[in-house]
Amino acid sequence: MTPHLPDFIHKIELPIPFPLKATNVFFIDRPPRTLVDTGIKTDLSFQLLEKGLEDRGFRLESVERIVLTHGHIDHYGLAKRIASLSGAPIYIHPVEYGRIRSILHALGFLKTILLRNGIPEVMVKEAISYIESAQRMGDPLEEAFFLNDGDPIPFQSMTWRAVHCPGHSPGLLCFYWPEEKILFSGDHLLKEVTPNPILNVSGTTLPYSYPSLRQYLASLEKVEGMDISLLLPGHGEEVRDVKGLIQGLYAHHQERMERIITILAGGDKTAFDIAMELFSGLPPFDVFLGVSEVLGHLEILKDKGRIRVKENEERDCYSLSAEETTVAMARNGMNCH
Ligand SMILES: [Zn+2]
Ligand SMILES: [Zn+2]
Repeated sequence: MTPHLPDFIHKIELPIPFPLKATNVFFIDRPPRTLVDTGIKTDLSFQLLEKGLEDRGFRLESVERIVLTHGHIDHYGLAKRIASLSGAPIYIHPVEYGRIRSILHALGFLKTILLRNGIPEVMVKEAISYIESAQRMGDPLEEAFFLNDGDPIPFQSMTWRAVHCPGHSPGLLCFYWPEEKILFSGDHLLKEVTPNPILNVSGTTLPYSYPSLRQYLASLEKVEGMDISLLLPGHGEEVRDVKGLIQGLYAHHQERMERIITILAGGDKTAFDIAMELFSGLPPFDVFLGVSEVLGHLEILKDKGRIRVKENEERDCYSLSAEETTVAMARNGMNCH
């Protein structure tokens, strides 16, 4: 049991076949009894959730409401199955609802974007088929109610508030309980892992824009301004020093941006080339995550006027701005591969 948690908040860890190993699901034993996130849709995950509730004296039918932090399978996967058993209504941000319903249709566009950013076709195919097959671990939602930023989540004895924190996913919600200063953060903040600002393309016409990291950093500032004494993330351990965690993330992204500038000082590169220099030897889906992060940084560096982008044989190629070039130490070839 998590120390210092009110005894009516039950944390249940459910296994996932990804590096993070488990998703945290929270059962709130106050009317209406609420489940925060659900884990993936596998029989094992379902059975362990059932057992986790039974060990604590509850049943799946006890769930009276499901609130979802965001639309990734490890968080919403079982929601429909639990809702159909218990009759619990599902609450989610409208953007995430739309993304869950359209993800398979959006893969063609994603493929175009990945190719444009220099990822070799064979890797793009593998990454897309990985995403496609992973969707089997989540049931698309049907009926759901929408929560937007600032919306109350009423219990009989308390009221939580939805806090919109786009970045890791564009409609990610954290749930804040002001009296106890507790924040359920989903994947916005995790103790040991830097949340990935997963690629989200704004608009469908050129030039594409990749706002995830910019939004993520703004969402960090938003949470930094809140009074939080305990953070309950979607994976891993709880966090008490939230401001320290956020400072560490700012420093991480600042350092990464400077490394990208150094890499570009060696010549023009695609986001894929940069990701390969930053993180070598990644399997295809992780290449997708690496390119996601790099594109987030490139977008911010472009906004600051430190780099430029130009098209080269239907690929986006990045280079240092003239000003940045004069301060760059060494330069090698300037060709885009
Ligand atoms: Zn996620
Ligand atoms: Zn997650």
